Amino acid sequence: MKTAAAPLQAAATGGSRIELADGRVLIDGIASWWTACHGYNHPHIADAVRRQLAAMPHVMFGGLVHEPALLLADRLAALLPGDLERVFFSDSGSVSVEVAIKMAMQYWLNRGVRTRHRLLAFRGGYHGDTIATMAVCDPEEGMHSLFAGVLPQHHVVALPRDADERAAFDRFLSEQAGGLAAILVEPLVQGAGGMVFHDPGVLRHLRQAADRHGLLLILDEVFTGFGRTGTMFACEQAGIVPDIITLSKALTGGTMGLAATVARRHVFEAFWSDDPLCALMHGPTFMANPLACSAALASLELFATEDRLGQVAGIERQLALELEPCAALPGVRDVRVRGAIGVVQLDRAPADMNGLKRRLVQQGVWVRPFRDIIYLTPAFTIAARDLSHLTRAIHAVLADSSVMLTTPA
Ligand code: PLP
Repeated sequence: MKTAAAPLQAAATGGSRIELADGRVLIDGIASWWTACHGYNHPHIADAVRRQLAAMPHVMFGGLVHEPALLLADRLAALLPGDLERVFFSDSGSVSVEVAIKMAMQYWLNRGVRTRHRLLAFRGGYHGDTIATMAVCDPEEGMHSLFAGVLPQHHVVALPRDADERAAFDRFLSEQAGGLAAILVEPLVQGAGGMVFHDPGVLRHLRQAADRHGLLLILDEVFTGFGRTGTMFACEQAGIVPDIITLSKALTGGTMGLAATVARRHVFEAFWSDDPLCALMHGPTFMANPLACSAALASLELFATEDRLGQVAGIERQLALELEPCAALPGVRDVRVRGAIGVVQLDRAPADMNGLKRRLVQQGVWVRPFRDIIYLTPAFTIAARDLSHLTRAIHAVLADSSVMLTTPA
């Protein structure tokens, strides 16, 4: 039996609202996969893009550079901690992680080391849908398990959360470090893999382990970057500086595709040579698209001029208060909140996922549960009453016993 539901047709967006072609208006709880952090159609970003469109929508970024990209690289370097200052632009989160993986592998090749080419990544992780990034996602998770055995081989292990896991992790590294190029992790929140949180101490352990074994540490902040966890970048909460960081999603305030892979000076220096074969072997056609760079610059201006992190703190408080009653509902395993991320985890995935999604739309909200996870990642500018509408809708739908009764035993 085919179970896919037809997609709804969106006609217009604005703030935290999506208007459908049939006239219904939904309050958006997930900000288009947590990209539209200033809400939809922010006039400051729209104006910047319009100006750039008139001047130069695109020009190749090989042998040519342009002001929006140069300014954006400078702004990102100034915002990021430590000497994360060498910026490589691409188009999507997956490609930014591909580039980070390639950068880590080529870092060792350029230094004459041919044995360090595997990545060490973590169960529950999600880094994208391209072949290279699938190979570092959780191997058991639905979307990627289909490709088991045909993807490049890396190591995917448990996150070292407690003392036992740390000891096992350290033993693993002592045995395998000679074949590893880098450690790759989503800091503080493993997002699309299941919205699972970990403490900053885990990241400090990874930083120390990477230093001990001379490995590069790559933080994938495609989800967490730009305020989502309460600080501009999640790594700030651990007080660590990765060797490479990946950014996308909210980089342009969710208006268009753009990503950045940012490296520390010592990583860059492995590529800085008169030998053309030492250059990073990547160059996407729409690299550093000027429209997207202008949108990103305007988005960063909004972070500087409006109190986005204050708004995230307010959303965190409200989500904690208003989602908490869901914890008492039958079929709910856990309720957790970090920054502007609210998660209600069920005992198991509902058998009638389409029915659950339909009921949420009937409540006037746009929320996209996956597996056993119902989550909110709203725009940081969402009005408190709209956020309450979202949390009440989730509670109402889960309290409706017919939703829970359709879960398989
Ligand atoms: N990395 C992380 C942490 C993500 O959450 C995602 C997307 O959800 C990606 C990478 C892939 O980004 P994109 O869908 O833009 O390719």
